[in-house]
Amino acid sequence: MSLRLDSKLPDVGTTIFTVMSQLAADCGAINLSQGFPSFDPPEALVERIEFHLRNGANQYAPMPGVPALREQLAAKTSRLYGRNVDVDSEITICTGATEGLFSTIQAVVRPGDEVIVFDPAYDSYEPAVTLAGGITRHVALAQQEDDFEIDWEAFEAALNDKTRLVIVNFPHNPTGAILSPADVDRLAESVRPYPTFLLSDEVYEHIVFDGVQHVSLLSHDELWKRSFVVSSFGKTFHATGWKVGYCVAPAALTAEFRRVHQFTTFTVVTPIQHALADFLEDSPDIHLALSEFYQQKRDLFCRLLEDSAFSVTPARSTFFQLLDYSGISDEDDTALADRWTREIGVASIPLSPFCAAPFEAKKLRFCFAKDDATLTEAAERLRTL
Ligand code: PMP
Ligand code: GLN
Repeated sequence: MSLRLDSKLPDVGTTIFTVMSQLAADCGAINLSQGFPSFDPPEALVERIEFHLRNGANQYAPMPGVPALREQLAAKTSRLYGRNVDVDSEITICTGATEGLFSTIQAVVRPGDEVIVFDPAYDSYEPAVTLAGGITRHVALAQQEDDFEIDWEAFEAALNDKTRLVIVNFPHNPTGAILSPADVDRLAESVRPYPTFLLSDEVYEHIVFDGVQHVSLLSHDELWKRSFVVSSFGKTFHATGWKVGYCVAPAALTAEFRRVHQFTTFTVVTPIQHALADFLEDSPDIHLALSEFYQQKRDLFCRLLEDSAFSVTPARSTFFQLLDYSGISDEDDTALADRWTREIGVASIPLSPFCAAPFEAKKLRFCFAKDDATLTEAAERLRTL
């Protein structure tokens, strides 16, 4: 007998985030590739974790999540997005947004179903669809000058009766694109004739610049009924390594979500859930300062590159800045990200790995969730190009 493991994901290699972070470490480069902050989580939150670690919160949490945390999230959802959700049946704490995305896709997508994603699309979506037996249909975001937005005609042409799920991610990684209230209405109009669900990845919901407000699918009466909205504490509390996120969806959808969640992960790290609940109760508006905090970082990084050879359009959201290098090189983005990590010591993320078709625009993504000295040193190196 010959034992051979045929891959279920033969086209999947190591993620570009791991590749670039490893390369940055190997070269001693400044790592502006993988998105993680160089700041610590709030001290009061860390203290609450320590408290709960020492006071018995070390066994399995309830499968849907610690009730006190779900209560805080329900209150926040009502306050921010005007959606009153049921604490017991409409919120589930999961292992980072990644698990929320994965469990939603496994719960919804059946063999042969089509799933629409917008390119550049975050890299965890398609492998999850493939594992569920679904077919991913890529619709490229339209690029107007340096702004990206949904190409409504292309989207509507891709929608059909087999479309089981549409995955949206606004604020968008990596372009910083956001949705306006009119976009959300248009989305509702587009999907109205079809039996399709929506998975809305809103992990950057609290990082939107220039006074603009994030428009959540939670706030839309019609879309809410068919939406799974996934978010994460990783971005909001500078704690990407904790891997705690959540999924908000109507009760019938949440019931299916939990059928998968309970066997993907069952339950999420208990002391951190309790600590997050305490912290959100004490500081319910903590997220309000986040956009301003990151806007200063964005402005600093863009200002430092003002007279560089890059063309820079400030990001509208997230902690990623795209830099257009068409004035410097016509090399493809993946090769260039590799070369500049080695040669000038600044690691970035190319956009091609997030696209089905080659990404023509000459742009690299730089993470500006770093202390000012790191951003200054990185910009100095980039200005030599
Ligand atoms: N979606 C997007 C768009 C992301 O950028 C990330 C990673 N930062 C995730 C999902 C995964 O979030 P988490 O680390 O909470 O799993
Ligand atoms: N979401 C992070 C980014 O976009 C990376 C997460 C990961 O490494 N899987 O950079």
